[in-house]
Amino acid sequence: AIACAGFAILFVAIGVWFSWRPDSEADDEFVAAIRRKEFIPYYQPVMDIETGRLRGCEVLMRWRRADGTMVSPGQFMPYAESTGHIFEMTRQLMRQTATEVGALYRDHPDLKLSVNLFAGHFNDRQIVEDIKEIYGSSDIAFQQIVVEVTERHPLQDMDLARKIIAELQALGVRVALDDVGTGHGGMAYLQKLGIDIIKIDKMFVDALGTDDSSTTIVDSMVELADNLGMGIIAEGVERMEQIERLRELGVTAAQGYIFAPPLPGKLYIELAEALANG
Ligand code: C2E
Ligand code: CA
Ligand code: CA
Ligand code: CA
Repeated sequence: AIACAGFAILFVAIGVWFSWRPDSEADDEFVAAIRRKEFIPYYQPVMDIETGRLRGCEVLMRWRRADGTMVSPGQFMPYAESTGHIFEMTRQLMRQTATEVGALYRDHPDLKLSVNLFAGHFNDRQIVEDIKEIYGSSDIAFQQIVVEVTERHPLQDMDLARKIIAELQALGVRVALDDVGTGHGGMAYLQKLGIDIIKIDKMFVDALGTDDSSTTIVDSMVELADNLGMGIIAEGVERMEQIERLRELGVTAAQGYIFAPPLPGKLYIELAEALANG
């Protein structure tokens, strides 16, 4: 009976090993892509819609595969996050931004660089060390860095998240709440986390001008931000009348295809230099 049980366990073990193997091969490939530095930063300009000046950018990850095809985050981010590869990918992404746009940011100290983090980053103090190490030894000052935390995924440990955010803020890094109004946190996140900036989701910006309730919602977000002393950025701006409406509502910063899509580093630098000199 013991021998039988032994064989049964052995067979199950072999079965499990074979059924997992394809996954682990796919994972090997993903890890190899990380090692080959195929995950790269693109930069979407953020504009001041009062003055027309460039405020800075949001860093958006792209997978540039060996054959030259570009893959959007929607297709690899869920995997990167669920496997934890996102931690190494984010470190690499930040290192690349330091190298690529460091000189630009040294020459233009008002420019901001906004990096997306995921919920897991606020569950581990390591992100504070990463940011200290990477930007501390770069030409980009901590005061120029913004980290974005999305409201889409719940934070596991609010107290730890609050602590991590406070440590980042002590360095001079500012913290933006992304996708506001679409997810979990809402008012509780704003209050408990000590957020500096709120980003109005594209969903609300889309409906500006065509749907009165959307105008009301943006209006109350602006009022909330003002009352709490927070900055506000509208994302996904695609049409001229949205800019008009945002100005009327008192929103001064915006990003979207109407200004520029996410750009490769070289183009972002050229645009920034042209706007600074022009
Ligand atoms: P997000 O942070 O909300 O980023 C804004 C998304 O809207 C980006 O999509 C951007 O390319 C797109 N976008 C900007 N302006 C417009 C516009 O005018 N119209 C339309 N239709 N879209 C616009 P992208 O680059 O595909 O990124 C998707 C999401 O992937 C991001 O949403 C963010 O949640 C996540 N992501 C991107 N890069 C990173 C990263 O480095 N780390 C983490 N953790 N997440 C990232
Ligand atoms: Ca974002
Ligand atoms: Ca967003
Ligand atoms: Ca969004």
